[in-house]
Amino acid sequence: MLRRFSRGAVDRAPAEIAPSRHLIDLRAVVKDYLTDAGSFRALHGANLQVDAGEFIAVVGKSGCGKSTLMNMMTGIDRATAGDVWVAGTHLNHLSEGQTAVWRGRAVGVIFQFFQLLPTLTVAENVMLPMDFGGLWTPKEREERAMALLEQVEMVDQADKLPSATSGGQQQRVAIARALANDPPILVADEPTGNLDSATAEAVIRLFDGLVAAGKTIVMVTHDREIAAHARRTVHMVDGHLLDGMLPDEPAPGGLASAGPAAPAVSAGPAVSAGPAAAFDPPGAARA
Ligand code: ADP
Ligand code: MG
Repeated sequence: MLRRFSRGAVDRAPAEIAPSRHLIDLRAVVKDYLTDAGSFRALHGANLQVDAGEFIAVVGKSGCGKSTLMNMMTGIDRATAGDVWVAGTHLNHLSEGQTAVWRGRAVGVIFQFFQLLPTLTVAENVMLPMDFGGLWTPKEREERAMALLEQVEMVDQADKLPSATSGGQQQRVAIARALANDPPILVADEPTGNLDSATAEAVIRLFDGLVAAGKTIVMVTHDREIAAHARRTVHMVDGHLLDGMLPDEPAPGGLASAGPAAPAVSAGPAVSAGPAAAFDPPGAARA
């Protein structure tokens, strides 16, 4: 299955840079949004390396660029400059259609507001990515959906519509859906942002189990206790990713955003904004 992600299959860059040995490798990624007021730079040359099996938290104040960064690594949006390697694929050169096919197999995405389809049952929501992925027969899809729902303790709700379940239950369904095509990577953007703390804790324990089972998770969070589950925390301030490099990784020449020898375990970035400042105060508006 990994062979599907191998470079060359869909990557037709003429003068290719060396492929990354990291599962996720963002190099000098810039993202500019075009607004009525002109161009706005949301990412200033972000460098982020994540190895297989890592569980990392991305923290920073509302509006600092966390969702933009997630959208780069999931291919939901395209970088203005820089290189994005994920699961052996150089996303820069994929068409929109190729990106959608790639994402369906390589990355499971989990959002703050779950984003289940309201007219489909819980089980149908989990089967949907399998219908597009084409990896399993219809019978296998159904069995697989039930097995995934069992994993998140939602099998007894399989025939309900999402609206008939609680927020925490919907997020567990969304996690099962993210796992539908057995992707190596899960990207979660504030997955507990809309849940009470007990429910959030249950969701995050699911993540712990998935990491133990070999998944790689990149998670945006505002919550210190939730971030504490991650093995590594990286910090964003005003579109700058402060400490996304792995310790053995030399920063690409002259990029201010790449901290020197970033610690593998968060000890706070060597800039004025410490980790505490990277979190919004409780009750702050969430983007
Ligand atoms: P976060 O997830 O950390 O709250 P975002 O990545 O959503 O931050 O946004 C980073 C910055 O980019 C913010 O200033 C936001 O207003 C701006 N931004 C995000 N998406 C767009 C867009 N589609 N068009 C213009 N500006 C955007
Ligand atoms: Mg966001």
